[in-house]
Amino acid sequence: MNFGAVGEFYAEFLKPRISSKGLHDLIKMGLTPALSGLYRADAYLTGNIPAGPPVQVDAVFVSHAHADHASYLGLLDPDIPIYCSLVTAAMIKATQDSANPGLEGETVIFSPRRLNPKTDEPLLLKENSYAYFWRRYVNAFNTEPPERFQEYWTANLVSEANTAKKQYEYLPVTMGTGSGSVGTMKYEAIAVDHSVYGATAYVFDLGGKTFCYTGDFRLHGLRGDTSLRFKERLREIRPDYLLTEGTNFGGQKGNDLANAQRASEEDVYENCLRAVQGEAGNLVIADFGPRNIERLLTFLKIAGETNRKLAVTTKDLLFLQAMGTADDVIDGAAHDERLYVYRPPKVKVAPWESYGIEMCGCRSVGAADLEKNPGDYVLAFSVFDFNNLVDIAPRGGAYIYSTCEAFNEEMEIDAERILNWIVRFAMTPYGIKEGIDEATGKAKVTFERGYHASGHISEQELIDFIDYVKPGAVIPMHTEHPEKFVEMLGNRHRIIVPEPGRAIVL
Ligand SMILES: [Zn+2]
Repeated sequence: MNFGAVGEFYAEFLKPRISSKGLHDLIKMGLTPALSGLYRADAYLTGNIPAGPPVQVDAVFVSHAHADHASYLGLLDPDIPIYCSLVTAAMIKATQDSANPGLEGETVIFSPRRLNPKTDEPLLLKENSYAYFWRRYVNAFNTEPPERFQEYWTANLVSEANTAKKQYEYLPVTMGTGSGSVGTMKYEAIAVDHSVYGATAYVFDLGGKTFCYTGDFRLHGLRGDTSLRFKERLREIRPDYLLTEGTNFGGQKGNDLANAQRASEEDVYENCLRAVQGEAGNLVIADFGPRNIERLLTFLKIAGETNRKLAVTTKDLLFLQAMGTADDVIDGAAHDERLYVYRPPKVKVAPWESYGIEMCGCRSVGAADLEKNPGDYVLAFSVFDFNNLVDIAPRGGAYIYSTCEAFNEEMEIDAERILNWIVRFAMTPYGIKEGIDEATGKAKVTFERGYHASGHISEQELIDFIDYVKPGAVIPMHTEHPEKFVEMLGNRHRIIVPEPGRAIVL
């Protein structure tokens, strides 16, 4: 999927028509390559979609559960097995469970489509809205998936209420071997540190040539030691080709970001702890990515040290519970007595919401309790939850912006909106503030360092990493500045810059 090109044509309110037209818009707009043998057959039913050259796909390897790595898995042919870590699998399922997605989001559980007989135009419809099938997932590591994981995995939280009519065929996740072979290709899965847990790099051996795909990784998180072991292992292997991420690589903006975000998770903990300590008796809102469990653990620790409880949304709770089924450390946090769930005022609770609450067994807190005892809580909210502030009506307190800085215009507008809410409720912002744009002299949102640690390796660390591993060639991906790899490393490494639509023949 070409995410850059998707953004050129589409936005939040202008989306490709995947649910009704399958692959039609994606392939015709050149957003995903036409390859026969890769996608689900029912995504072609709307006709007149170029098939493209045939490919034989024995397996798909997923590095981690961020949207830009996993969100279109629902388009794959369900016969293709998907390899990933158990934590990644749990997150992918939680994403589907909590989203009620269309065709492309049927990443774990899918429902076959047929053509709608009532429309003149060929449009897709569920064959049977009660029939669900599970995709084939394999744990990329050499561990047996725990029973509690399989129990969550095989729970159908997507379908509508009528359980009596439900027919579903589920497949538990198969145990992996950590390293083994798929067809004629050998693979090795290696855990790395990233802002979501469960991130995995892979080394492949195909006909004696070795490739390493790093996925997204960093060295400075709480599990940074895993990335250091990955670095040592790669030096041993000396892969012929290193396909590496380069998010923080190159460009003025990229450099600023890399410098600003060199804060470690430890720094984040200390700065946020200080902010919370200064707000005794007042509400504290912590804003961090819903899948960033590491940050959730940081705030759970801070809540404990400041005699508060951590209240999370039902969505965060499901993710935490789901990942806990695959990881004992997360499971500990998922059942921590300081953990509360924020109960918004609504009549109907979705099946996935009640499942998460039941798994957790945690207590809930509503707007009235928060208004009465604001100093007892750290509330994990993002801007999308701000409607609830009208009910909670905080009078002062702190808002801690503990997520990535705005890197495009849309995000800057969101950041302005966040500040308007914060000012409206007389809260003190940390990590974000109204500043002045030096170039134009106009007001502009600025970001304070030390309240967020980047999920990605810094530019200098990546240069050192590549120099240390000494791969045969470097193929930069997941970067806006592949040309910088040539500029900065081209004198001592072979760099192959990928081009859209062009195969790299090795
Ligand atoms: Zn990522």
